[in-house]
Amino acid sequence: MSVSSTVKFLSPEEIAARKVGEAAQLKFADPAFVFRDRALRLRQLAAGHPMRDFLVFMADVADAQHTVLAAPRTVKLPTQDFLAEAARAGTPALEFPRWSLDEAWREDLQDLLAALAARVGQGAAREVITGLQSAGASHLDQQAERLLSGIMLGLDLAAAPLIGAALQVYWARLVHRTQAAFPDLAFGPIDNARVCPCCGGQPVASVARIGGDDAGSRYLHCSLCQTGWHMVRIKCAHCESTKDISYQELEPAEGAEQPTYHVPKGAVRAECCGECGHYLKIVDMAKDAHVDPVADDLASVALDLLVSETGALRHGLNYLLLWGEPAEDALEHQPAGAT
Ligand SMILES: [Zn+2]
Ligand SMILES: [Zn+2]
Repeated sequence: MSVSSTVKFLSPEEIAARKVGEAAQLKFADPAFVFRDRALRLRQLAAGHPMRDFLVFMADVADAQHTVLAAPRTVKLPTQDFLAEAARAGTPALEFPRWSLDEAWREDLQDLLAALAARVGQGAAREVITGLQSAGASHLDQQAERLLSGIMLGLDLAAAPLIGAALQVYWARLVHRTQAAFPDLAFGPIDNARVCPCCGGQPVASVARIGGDDAGSRYLHCSLCQTGWHMVRIKCAHCESTKDISYQELEPAEGAEQPTYHVPKGAVRAECCGECGHYLKIVDMAKDAHVDPVADDLASVALDLLVSETGALRHGLNYLLLWGEPAEDALEHQPAGAT
């Protein structure tokens, strides 16, 4: 694939047509803001929330992710041939295990743990941090590989959110640097619209965006590398059906003095599919400009419980909150947070 192959001459009519509401296929995360903004959102949501301590801990995790991502780190990048081969095959270029783990992810983990240890007092979270700090490289790699492959058997559920947080930093940096090194050919269209075109990750939630050509466009947000990829609205992210899509959201309990989870109406909803029975949350920036797909997913666990009472199954993945095994069993399993 050469750069010139992507150049296409457009007629004036085509150019005019493109100006109206043409959304970019990919929305890359800005390393300077992605985890910092998430930490801010988590602290905002934690105020008065029944899961306050959990959300504050996750804000500390996001702050630590921001610190680690901002620090200098040398990582291996893919070659042009490696990227071109994926483009020809229509597969995500940096998907595990096509892209294998290298030791830089463990450096990210150890720096993340050190940053967190400075904030966390004694307790269960401290024990998890200490345990990971003294764990051997092969154990850590094995846990990371299980997490990336969706294998819950043998996965340490208490440690998984921290391992996931380190993998997010590693992959966010990897995708950012790869895109910077090969801006015209790094990440093209792939055959499977359900996974991240960069890393093959599952979505954590959808984001309805605001501003310019993006206004109203829906992006699935990658649970791993934090890239957004475009999908038309009112479409199931699990089976891609456009029939029988409905939305559910939390309403303040009648008579309650204060809602326990207060975001503007319509800001966080579950997009439910009657065809396959799955749902994925969608956060709407037009209703609340500060929504974050990961933070708002964590803060709206009550919505998962409400929707799963109807028999709906959760689609997608949030590394900071794993729903036991398998994700379909959300009703029976409490989230395994590292509090
Ligand atoms: Zn990704
Ligand atoms: Zn569906």
